[in-house]
Amino acid sequence: MNELARLLAQRIRTAGPLTVAEFIQEALLHPRLGYYMTRDPLGARGDFITAPEVSQVFGELVGLWCADIWDKMGRPERVVLAELGPGRGTLMADALRALKAAPDFGQAVSLNLVEASPVLRHQQAALLAAAHPSWHESIAGLPEGKLILIANEFLDALPIRQLVRGERHWHERMVTLSADQKSLVFALDPAPSPAAALLPPQVAAAQAGSLAEIRPAATALGAALGKRLAEQGGAALFVDYGYCPSACGDTLQALSRHRRHEVLENPGEADLTAHVDFAAFAAAARQGGARAWGPMPQGGFLAALGLAERAAALFARATPAQLPAIESGCRRLIDPQEMGTLFKALALTEPDLPAPAGFAEEFAA
Ligand code: SAH
Repeated sequence: MNELARLLAQRIRTAGPLTVAEFIQEALLHPRLGYYMTRDPLGARGDFITAPEVSQVFGELVGLWCADIWDKMGRPERVVLAELGPGRGTLMADALRALKAAPDFGQAVSLNLVEASPVLRHQQAALLAAAHPSWHESIAGLPEGKLILIANEFLDALPIRQLVRGERHWHERMVTLSADQKSLVFALDPAPSPAAALLPPQVAAAQAGSLAEIRPAATALGAALGKRLAEQGGAALFVDYGYCPSACGDTLQALSRHRRHEVLENPGEADLTAHVDFAAFAAAARQGGARAWGPMPQGGFLAALGLAERAAALFARATPAQLPAIESGCRRLIDPQEMGTLFKALALTEPDLPAPAGFAEEFAA
């Protein structure tokens, strides 16, 4: 066992098994040993790679999406531009560069970043210094006012709880100690779980043996953001990998150096993520008062925003040596075998706005 596993084992001995969400929370965000607290996980030499790290076109198109929604909001003089989990700051840097084409928008924004990792805050500060960002622990700390918020691969990092359907009841999957006390193992709580009340109806009706996931932190975020957008105005764009409608399935995975890793082994040393239930998140935001749009597959969303035109413009200026990387990056973003279908975009808006760019349809419950 590594140091964090030993600390968790001690906690289990004194206070009992952990929910999967408690385990993920500690593995990712333990102040000293948590995965995100100790490293930059991104890039070819890290543990995983994300759309903005694959191609600059991703951030540029998201920047143009922001300028378009600002226009649809009636071009407010002041707007809070926020990003959740900005990673290395690449997405925002590419977005801001594209926004030089919309100087009025650039004048209106103040940049706000919600980031838990001190390592990544440091990188964001270096890359985004010219935009004078402020950092916050959560969206509760964002300044008041009209908001344009973006988040790529943020929701999948929020902890999930897992429930397993028995013959008569749902039981929570817990993390506990093996009989020989030498490793962390999964075990079902024998008592029926009150969290079953949080399952969407079609999931709650699943047959014995089914595993369902809920993400209370995402539901709370959706509700709070929905309320804020309805009361103060604005829009939000979430891109992540996941599913819609809500469904059963164990999607929790650990990744280290681009490879699958055992979920409970060496906590804090691998990234832990689970697919996003877009339907549950959109429903929470709608209950808060916002309108939800999509989800759109990432490929279709980026194509609608003008990926082909953007790529052609880059091609025209690139050296021959740069061409293959530009081509393969753009293809990776939209190819259904790569990020084009599994990744999806969901928008939230204040109730009176028209469809945001790239979204043909409102979310249908
Ligand atoms: N958006 C970036 C990084 C995605 S990785 C990209 O697309 O490349 C997830 C990001 O969310 C990291 O920046 C991580 O530090 C941050 N993060 C994870 N959980 C968080 C939490 N609970 N609060 C704030 N930031 C969090």
